[in-house]
Amino acid sequence: MKPVLPKLSPETVALAGLAGFLLDLALAGLLVFALVDRTAPPQDLPWKPFSLDQPIGLATAGKLARISADPAACRAALREGGARFVEGETRETGFCSTRDTLRASGDLSPAGPVMTCPLALRYALWDRQVLRPAAWDILRTRLVRVDHFGTYACRTIYGRPGERPSAHARAAALDVAGFRFADGRRATVAADFRSGDPRGHFVQAARNGACKVFGTVLSPDYNAAHRDHLHLEDSGYRLCR
Ligand SMILES: [Zn+2]
Repeated sequence: MKPVLPKLSPETVALAGLAGFLLDLALAGLLVFALVDRTAPPQDLPWKPFSLDQPIGLATAGKLARISADPAACRAALREGGARFVEGETRETGFCSTRDTLRASGDLSPAGPVMTCPLALRYALWDRQVLRPAAWDILRTRLVRVDHFGTYACRTIYGRPGERPSAHARAAALDVAGFRFADGRRATVAADFRSGDPRGHFVQAARNGACKVFGTVLSPDYNAAHRDHLHLEDSGYRLCR
């Protein structure tokens, strides 16, 4: 005897079809996610943890912003990356403050300037993933020192009265003047930024790479006040010139 199948209304058939389609879509989505999760580099995936050892990728800026908002996460990221540091001392003068700062050991000269954790983290990433590879790729040598003009300065922008406080007023910006290499060569922003020779290419690569790491980057391309240094700021309004 043939089984009697219940008669389905056209609406039910359409609904079942739609449910099947959505299930297929969800499964396909899951498959794509699993594939991307397994094959894409972690620096391109926002849900993978940040590491100073990862090259700069599609998700790096977002991760830096997230970590920068959390002092404990920022310090943990530095520690996990092998960066050594001590907590900075807090100075408060008028609109200026070195609250929540640290001093990291590394290749900066003068050594261990006081800086915010987000600035230290971004510097460590720039040093490891931009400067060191560029020194080898462009100059076939090792970077040994990064000369700077300082981080903390209790002043307004350009020191003009009535201007808003500079990022330097909270040790949130670093002014990089030049680079020294293992083979004795030096490259400075003042002399080499526009030289067009390999040292100039290195300084340009340093600036261009900084734009992927820091919030605000100002170079000789911005104005005459920056003819001899790169101003690198922890956050800011995403300005790169
Ligand atoms: Zn500056």
